Amino acid sequence: MKKLIAGNWKMNGSLTANEALLLALGQGLERVPAGSLHCDVAVCVPAPYLAQVQALKASQPALSGIELGAQDVSAHDAGAYTGEVSAAMLKDLGCRYVIVGHSERRQYHFETDALVAEKAGAVLASGMTPIVCIGETLIEREAGHTEEVIKRQLAAVISANGHRISEIVLAYEPVWAIGTGRSASPPQAQAVHAVLRAGLEAVTDLFARVKILYGGSMNAANAASLLAQPDIDGGLIGGASLKAHDFLTIIAAAQV
Ligand code: PEP
Repeated sequence: MKKLIAGNWKMNGSLTANEALLLALGQGLERVPAGSLHCDVAVCVPAPYLAQVQALKASQPALSGIELGAQDVSAHDAGAYTGEVSAAMLKDLGCRYVIVGHSERRQYHFETDALVAEKAGAVLASGMTPIVCIGETLIEREAGHTEEVIKRQLAAVISANGHRISEIVLAYEPVWAIGTGRSASPPQAQAVHAVLRAGLEAVTDLFARVKILYGGSMNAANAASLLAQPDIDGGLIGGASLKAHDFLTIIAAAQV
């Protein structure tokens, strides 16, 4: 299956910096001969910049291969929810992907498994693909609870979304690896991805087509070995997605 390399810009950027980053990415992608980009690429940008990136994509052919994504969404359709952004609005702005359940949302905004599952449903209902993040904390890993935690997080998404589970992208992001410079080792990540694949196999015949991304300090140096694992179908990349050269190197590592 085609891998997916998705950048999560988090709360970074400015009109000027975004344009410079995207133009540098576009120049890098232009060097890839037409038709030979063998992975999907997306950037998940802060909501206020979605329109800017949409406009840049429309005016710069070199950016046509980069899909647009958002970092969060409301579980509600519309109405009196001040500050929230609906799935329909994101779709209107050209989003193809929406990250839901990022550990920073779970940790700082107290998002529960049930809310994350509901958000994934809202994204699917609007015709976009949710990138559903799951992963254990360091305390949970050290207590030997990794499998239990990720199975619980996945079960909530399955129970709320039924057969549509085959349309999501999953991202395994061990919380202790995010933004720490300490990535999971390729065998550590593969072991969890295999558990997730088995969990999907138990509920859908289409389990093999669900992309399971790894995220957590993936960078230009470690991407190739992580992406070579059989159940790692791409990466969700934070810090390294803000540096064009590093992000392009990760994209190049996903070409096989
Ligand atoms: C992320 O924010 O999803 C992430 C994986 O961050 P980083 O790559 O910086 O660890």
